[in-house]
Amino acid sequence: MKAAPFRYHAPSTVAEAVDLLTEHGDEAKVLAGGQSLVPIMALRLGRYGHLVDLNRVDGLRGVEAANGHVRVGAMTTQSAVEHDPMIADRVPLVAAAAPHIGHFQIRNRGTVGGSIAHADPAAELPAVAMALDAVMEVGGPEGAREVRAADFFTSMWTTSLADNEILTAVRFPVRSELQGFAVSEVARRHGDFALVGTACAVSVDGGGVVTDAAIALFGVGPTPVRAASAEEALVGTGPDADLGEIGRLALSGVDPNDDVHASGDYRRRAGAAIVARALGTARDEARGGRS
Ligand SMILES: Cc1cc2nc3c(=O)[nH]c(=O)nc-3n(C[C@H](O)[C@H](O)[C@H](O)COP(=O)(O)OP(=O)(O)OC[C@H]3O[C@@H](n4cnc5c(N)ncnc54)[C@H](O)[C@@H]3O)c2cc1C
Repeated sequence: MKAAPFRYHAPSTVAEAVDLLTEHGDEAKVLAGGQSLVPIMALRLGRYGHLVDLNRVDGLRGVEAANGHVRVGAMTTQSAVEHDPMIADRVPLVAAAAPHIGHFQIRNRGTVGGSIAHADPAAELPAVAMALDAVMEVGGPEGAREVRAADFFTSMWTTSLADNEILTAVRFPVRSELQGFAVSEVARRHGDFALVGTACAVSVDGGGVVTDAAIALFGVGPTPVRAASAEEALVGTGPDADLGEIGRLALSGVDPNDDVHASGDYRRRAGAAIVARALGTARDEARGGRS
């Protein structure tokens, strides 16, 4: 099937793109890598009279470090962050998540901003943004504003972006010395969306005791979520912590759906196991310090 007819716009600045979105209202849609939007349009699950392509907009691509953060332009491709040495060194959770996104052909076109703005509940990068308390930079008719990840994902495929706003960049905090990270997920095949997944960050003190933990879950509800009670339970523990119990606690606060791919009960049990595994990996990395 082919997409319904649309008019194509290629602005060169954020302001021009915002003006086009404002002019055409809910008839208009931003086009980034097209890896979600184009299939949606081709299958006629969505019809948009105007596509506003961000690919020629200045300043939306690239990775830079400043003030304790790494700033990733929204139009930076997923494969660019997957292979960027600065990302690997300073925001390793992003590097760990990227290979789980589809296949390399998809990551060559798909963008970081597109993944986060699309807000698929089973996607990796929104969960990474939640785990790291990333900050979203947004451009709109009133200028720029910032939104914390916790306030960004509002429901399934929905964010706090207004129809005429654009995600321009995402700021991720730089890792600290005694911190470790892991992404773990269960998918039917590598490259498929996760049935359930987790992105974890663990900080320890010099004695190996956990001082801070972030456990973000995906594929278990309409948005990525933090497992706050499990995070609290992990803080203050040493190497003998029962991670299986922490994993079960993490999944006890969510109510995953049954669907054709898996039951909610399967997602809860598999989720508990992968949280335990990811926390073990992250904690070991944190205890080992930086290589
Ligand atoms: C076979 C297949 C497997 C996939 N597997 C996975 C997977 O395992 N994990 C995963 O996370 N993703 C997966 N994806 C989706 C892929 O990562 C997409 O690239 C991503 O969801 C959207 O990014 P995009 O840049 O392609 O955005 P587009 O498809 O261009 O846009 C997606 C949506 O976001 C909006 N949007 C895009 N950029 C912005 C912006 N800067 N500001 C405001 N709104 C914006 C668009 O208007 C649209 O609504 C898969 C896709 C395919 C086709």
